Amino acid sequence: MKFTVLGSGDTRGLPKVGCHCATCADALKTGFERKRFGIVVEHESDGKTTRILIDASPDLRRAFLQYGFSSKDLDAVLLTHEHYDHVAGLGDFFYEGKTIPLYARPDCIDHVFSEHAYGYLRGFRLFDFHKMDWLAPFSVGGADGIRVTPVPVTHSIETAGFVFEAGGKKAAVLTDCRADVPAPTQDAIRDADLLFTDGWMENSEQFKEAHRAFHSDLSESALTELSKRKKRNHLLISEALELAMRVGAKKTVLLHVAHAASPHAALSRRYDSAKIQVGFDGSRFEA
Ligand SMILES: [Zn+2]
Ligand SMILES: [Zn+2]
Ligand SMILES: [Zn+2]
Repeated sequence: MKFTVLGSGDTRGLPKVGCHCATCADALKTGFERKRFGIVVEHESDGKTTRILIDASPDLRRAFLQYGFSSKDLDAVLLTHEHYDHVAGLGDFFYEGKTIPLYARPDCIDHVFSEHAYGYLRGFRLFDFHKMDWLAPFSVGGADGIRVTPVPVTHSIETAGFVFEAGGKKAAVLTDCRADVPAPTQDAIRDADLLFTDGWMENSEQFKEAHRAFHSDLSESALTELSKRKKRNHLLISEALELAMRVGAKKTVLLHVAHAASPHAALSRRYDSAKIQVGFDGSRFEA
């Protein structure tokens, strides 16, 4: 299987608009960008390629143009959850007039395609809706395609991770998640050849710094409380590495990286190794 990272950033993206922090200043100077989250998964068998998109970010259109993808080439779209940075690009499926299978949890479909959100897209029959059950695998692209298993993760709202199996390999994608990854999910991703995971920031000081910007009313002790594992909705890089070690992932890619973390070059120097890589937009991986 081949994986292309369409966007390696969190909901603010990098550079964050109007931000003068060291990482955003570096990004503006070097042109390094983190678009919002997305991954394309591909598997080729007998000359036929099965292609799956995970999430439709507000940067989807630009990522498709930049990396040479098109919605007409997709065999399925999977949604992890209904937060803005994961669904705001769903309108970019307008171009092809093709109906694409879309897999998500029932509540996610109901929210995203409600009459007050993207419900108006239903009329264009862009998507064929499939409601996923936890740990119930389904196939995309037939018997020689990709086997997908949705797994639960903890986040501020119900959120899915995915396990992909094809050609005797296993890969897992867990975006937005808290440190308390449920035991059945840890079992499902065990020994993955490739693990993509939330690697939001490096430490709780960066978390507190980022939150001071829009919670100026919060006391230092309230910020400390918020930065603790169970109150924080994303993994710190140290927690992501702990998780990768615990489940025995052969290679781990850190994504959903915030502007509050160090500039990419510094993150790379600090964390990249044979088994770990800090993801970036357009990075490609194989399992
Ligand atoms: Zn997100
Ligand atoms: Zn910044
Ligand atoms: Zn989220």
